[in-house]
Amino acid sequence: MKLQLGLVLFGFTLAMGQIVPRGSWCPVPISPRLPRLVGPVRLIIIHHTVTASCFNPQQCLLALRQIRADHLRRKFRDIGYNFLIGGDGRIYEGLGFGIRDEHAPNYNSQSIGIAFIGNFQSGLPPPQMLQAARTLIQIGVQRRQVLPNYTLVGHCQTKATACPGKHLLEELKKWPRWQPKP
Ligand SMILES: [Zn+2]
Repeated sequence: MKLQLGLVLFGFTLAMGQIVPRGSWCPVPISPRLPRLVGPVRLIIIHHTVTASCFNPQQCLLALRQIRADHLRRKFRDIGYNFLIGGDGRIYEGLGFGIRDEHAPNYNSQSIGIAFIGNFQSGLPPPQMLQAARTLIQIGVQRRQVLPNYTLVGHCQTKATACPGKHLLEELKKWPRWQPKP
C-alpha cells in the first residue's frame, strides 16, 4: 500500500531496474551551462551520502532534495552525483550520464559518480541497493556511456575520505571490475 502511494506521488509506474528520471524529484532542470561529460568514461566512483537512509519513494524524494540543497550550499552547481541509489532499490538520476559531476576532484571529467543514499560506515547497504548499482553499471555499458573494461573504485581511493564507508568498500572489492587504483 505504501509503495503504491509512492508510485502515485511520482505520477507514473516504474519497473525495478529502470532509472527514475530527475524530473520526478527535482523541479529544477539541469542548467545548459553545466560542463558536458563525454562518454564512454573509464571510471566509476562509488560514494555514500552520509545522510539518513530512505526506504520508499517518498522518503527518497525528500532525501534527494535535501542532498541537492546541501550541495548547493556547498557551492556545487547542482547535485554532485550522476546517479543515486535509494534504499527502496531504485536508481535515481542526479546529473545523468551526459553531465560532468563534482563528486571527485581530478576525476570528474573521466568518471560517473554513483552515491548510495545512507551512511555505510557502520553497516552494509541492503541487497536491493547493491543490485540496483550493479544494474546501473550494466545500463551505462549498454548505452556506451561507460567503457566495458571500466575501473570501479570507492571515493576513498581517489582522496583522503571515509566515503563510501568501510562496509561498502569491502563489498565493492568483491565486484568484477574493482581495482586497487583509479
Ligand atoms: Zn564520496
